[in-house]
Amino acid sequence: MATYQQRVRNAVNNPAWQEYRESMKGKTLERKIVMLHEYWLLGSHTHSPNGWLSCKVCLRVDNYIKALCRGGQLRAKESLKTFQENDWYEEYTKK
Ligand SMILES: [Zn+2]
Repeated sequence: MATYQQRVRNAVNNPAWQEYRESMKGKTLERKIVMLHEYWLLGSHTHSPNGWLSCKVCLRVDNYIKALCRGGQLRAKESLKTFQENDWYEEYTKK
C-alpha cells in the first residue's frame, strides 16, 4: 500500500495541476480557496470504495490546503475533509 505522501507525490506530478498551482501564486487566500473549490468541482474524480485517497484530484486539493496550513495562511489541521464539512470555509471567503 502506498503511503499518503507517495500518493500525493504521484498525484501532484501532473503538468496541468502544476500550471493551475502556478496560477494561484500571488492570489489572495480567498481567491485561492475559490480556485481550489472550482478545481475540485470540475475535476475528474476517481474514488475507490475506500474513499478519496485513490483520487488524484482530491489528493492535490488536500495537499494544497495542508501546504497553506504549513505556510500559516490557514489554521493548522485544515484539510479537504474539514473544508467539505464546513461548506468550503465561508469564514475564509466572502468576509
Ligand atoms: Zn476526488
